[in-house]
Amino acid sequence: MSEKFDFTKIKDRNKDGNFSEEAEGNIIEEARRMEMKVEKFVAEKDKEISKKEIRENEEELVSINEVSGIQKRSEKLFLREGVLNKIKIIKEELKVIGLGIKIFDAWRSPGEQNRIWEEQVRKIKNKELLLNDEEIKKIAARFVAPPEMAPHCTGGSLDLTIYNLATGEELDMGTAYDDFKKESYTDHPSVSEIVKNNRRRLKNIMKKQGFTNFPTEWWHFSYGNTEWAAIKGESYAIYGNIDLHI
Ligand SMILES: [Zn+2]
Repeated sequence: MSEKFDFTKIKDRNKDGNFSEEAEGNIIEEARRMEMKVEKFVAEKDKEISKKEIRENEEELVSINEVSGIQKRSEKLFLREGVLNKIKIIKEELKVIGLGIKIFDAWRSPGEQNRIWEEQVRKIKNKELLLNDEEIKKIAARFVAPPEMAPHCTGGSLDLTIYNLATGEELDMGTAYDDFKKESYTDHPSVSEIVKNNRRRLKNIMKKQGFTNFPTEWWHFSYGNTEWAAIKGESYAIYGNIDLHI
């Protein structure tokens, strides 16, 4: 995902500042190319993810409520202890520049993941009547992990965004969380420069703490699980699926 499309390089805008038809055509073509590249990457990584060795390090799941000053969509969010420690560091770093973290989702029980997967498969089946089961699963896997390799079940993955501490407003990320469309691809060229910058800021601050981003979802980050190991090129994962013991 290194080839980023730079709109500012397009010279042929008309006098209203809009793109000419030809330039618009180029943008669409560039977007298609990027989408295909991401989809190929995801298909390849999915194969790798399922084969990655796990050397479980037995870290516990801890409640996100243990860290103050984080916006949450639910009071029942859990992460592995090491992952939450990293989030704590990121929270402090963002605070200095007037920003905060909002977490949408974190650890999921295998039962919950199954429900989300089945729902996604059903949705695609209803839309793509000509595809076979194998093809339907492939499309579904772009946005939802199949239960057997679901990163959220390890406590190493989380979905998050950044918000403005002063106003409480989320930064503009171009698409809503869990909006399963191509503009949600992290490096998609058809979003505004502001959106590109906001996505880049989130990705960079997470990357600094060792997280990897899944390229079809600007909001999804992982550490320690097989998805992380495959994307980062680590030889093994340290977090496998885990259940809550309370
Ligand atoms: Zn996620």
